[in-house]
Amino acid sequence: MPPVPAVQSDGVPPVADPARASLDALLDELIATVQEARPKDDIAPIPKAFQFAAQHHAGQLRASGEPYLMHPLAVARILADMRMDVVSIVTGLLHDIVEDTSVTTADVLRSFGSEVAGCVDGVTKLSKIDFFSAEDRQAESYRKMLLAMVNDIRVIIVKLADRLHNMRTLGALSPERRERIARETLEIYAPIAHRLGMGKVRGELEDLAFRYLDPEAFEEISNSIDSQRPAHEAWLERMRRTVEGELRREGIPARVDGRVKRAFSVYQKLKRQKISLEQVYDLFALRIITDSVKNCYGALGVIHNEWRPVPGRIKDFIAIPRPNLYQSLHTSVVGPDGKHCEIQIRTEEMHRIAEEGIAAHWKYKEGKRGAQDDQRVAWLRQLVEWQQEMRDPSEFSSTLKLDLYPEEVYCFTPKGRVIVLPSGASPIDFAYAVHSEVGNTCTGAKVNGRIVPLRYSLRNGDIVDILTQTGHQPSKDWLGLVKTSRARNKIKHVINANERERAIEIGQKFLEKEARRLGVQLSRIQKTELERVAAEYGLSKIEDLYASLGYGKFSARQVLQKSAPEQVAEEPLPPPAPVADPTQYARRDDDSVIKVHGIDDVMIYRAKCCNPIRGDAIVGYVTRGKGIAVHSRACTNVQNLMYDAERKIEVEWARNASDTFPVRIVVQTDDRPGLLHQLTTVLANENTNVRSLEAKTDFTAGNDAAFVEMTVDVRDKKQLEKLCAAMRRISGVRDVERTNQ
Ligand code: MN
Repeated sequence: MPPVPAVQSDGVPPVADPARASLDALLDELIATVQEARPKDDIAPIPKAFQFAAQHHAGQLRASGEPYLMHPLAVARILADMRMDVVSIVTGLLHDIVEDTSVTTADVLRSFGSEVAGCVDGVTKLSKIDFFSAEDRQAESYRKMLLAMVNDIRVIIVKLADRLHNMRTLGALSPERRERIARETLEIYAPIAHRLGMGKVRGELEDLAFRYLDPEAFEEISNSIDSQRPAHEAWLERMRRTVEGELRREGIPARVDGRVKRAFSVYQKLKRQKISLEQVYDLFALRIITDSVKNCYGALGVIHNEWRPVPGRIKDFIAIPRPNLYQSLHTSVVGPDGKHCEIQIRTEEMHRIAEEGIAAHWKYKEGKRGAQDDQRVAWLRQLVEWQQEMRDPSEFSSTLKLDLYPEEVYCFTPKGRVIVLPSGASPIDFAYAVHSEVGNTCTGAKVNGRIVPLRYSLRNGDIVDILTQTGHQPSKDWLGLVKTSRARNKIKHVINANERERAIEIGQKFLEKEARRLGVQLSRIQKTELERVAAEYGLSKIEDLYASLGYGKFSARQVLQKSAPEQVAEEPLPPPAPVADPTQYARRDDDSVIKVHGIDDVMIYRAKCCNPIRGDAIVGYVTRGKGIAVHSRACTNVQNLMYDAERKIEVEWARNASDTFPVRIVVQTDDRPGLLHQLTTVLANENTNVRSLEAKTDFTAGNDAAFVEMTVDVRDKKQLEKLCAAMRRISGVRDVERTNQ
């Protein structure tokens, strides 16, 4: 978020001396405030930072026409009033210098050291974040992200002071900018102030924002409150005196303040309860500040003794503090004239925390540590202690993040939308969070302008640009890279849909093949007949029928029998008798020796081109009309076939089948007597069934060479290798080769 813009004073003469004199006076006041709040601190960096800022912002004017330097001075003053430390004050003076002048963070580091440079850099980074959605969830994401990005809590406090001054001086801007900044204040910064327990800053930010966002409602409420102000004040004063007197009588030391509620909180009440201003009867609030928790409860008793409490309005935030560590007792009573009044009771310490929140704890950084042992402020104190103990800022940063939002990471789309993901999420999670189509077609990602691998772990503030390609499909590997269930479900959905498509195709082919085998003319079977059969299986569409066939839920024969009972016999035919043709032999058994992943009962055959046997790495290919062809992965045809990735299918050897496979082997030998006998002896010793064996003399290789071609049955690759090794050991054997020719 850019700060109020600096207007360059082109051609305007240098700022006149009176302006400078008033700036100097403001500096003096600032230093006096810091010295009073923190007498032991070295304030030397403050005038130095002032000079530095004056030099670099020289000539710049605010939209109001004031010298720009007024703004950082005012921000520093707000911080001084919060009793923040010198680093915070100096950061306040320099907070816009990197954003709006030629000064770099390195320059700040050289002149003011790493603490100040780190804080200025942090504020500059926050300023660059553009907030642009009024959607509630987005706003919450922004708030969390701002907190998660900050590695020094002082950055947030300076940013809030900056925003507070900008809001106080918002009038000089155009209506559009006013509205935008006011909305951002209400949706982002006021809740952050609330989160950090800074009630005073929050209240002022809300009222200022409200004034610009709904001027009419603001006017109406303020006017109405103002018109009755004298009456209100008289009533409150009466109430206050009574309370003071009663407490004194009971020996409870206390300070009692009366106030009319803030415009914005009245407005929220009107909206929440859908009532008119006249009906808001607890416009009034009293605050009792006493010295101990015991006296808080004592004061509550005194109040309830004096006035009737409104049922359901007593709240004990002392016993159960709010998440931002706010503590108080709340009650509402029916006061004089039947008017309701809210009463808050707290100790001085609780009051300071309620007003200043995290800033209240900041000043305990030095000295008084351990003075308050209250467990209930442990969280804030821990933050402060980490700050002291952690020399490595990145370590602090991770600890702070860990504490605030341990499981989330905040990233942006290139257009600036915030995407909240679990920590460890990948660009794929991001893509699916944007849109499921973006996820499905994601081919890569750029993070902060650079290509990253899809397994990249996203970090806070990453700007993620997803690269897509129409028609691209998610891969199963992605399931290992995603952290969100949304991405996981979408990926599974697509994979299942693809598998179903494949099953439909396989089922259809299976039916066609079986029909051919049984001599059924599939084209004669009416579509309505198939639909009826589908319905019989409890399926609504023919496609479901095919898919079920493809998944092997029932057989093609059953379906044909049901669709054309007059053509297909009830009893399955006996299995065909074994035939000599090795391919025929193989085909018959292949359905049981090879498994297709996730699908049973499909037609499978081992491709003739590579004749894979058990133990070979194999891959399936969905053919058109012939079931699944199983190739050896080493098969040269596979490379050509597998371009169509859709039709590739994972297959594996069935575990318990005991089939054998016919394999053709060519042995090259010396042409000498007795060799053939030695070969057949080896085959016998290895218990190998020989289907055919033929010896030839190879005249082209010279008259001392011979070839023996044989077809043997082997159980698997291991047995084949053992056999080949045994044959190679025979003296005179030159080469043994498995072949498919
Ligand atoms: Mn600023």
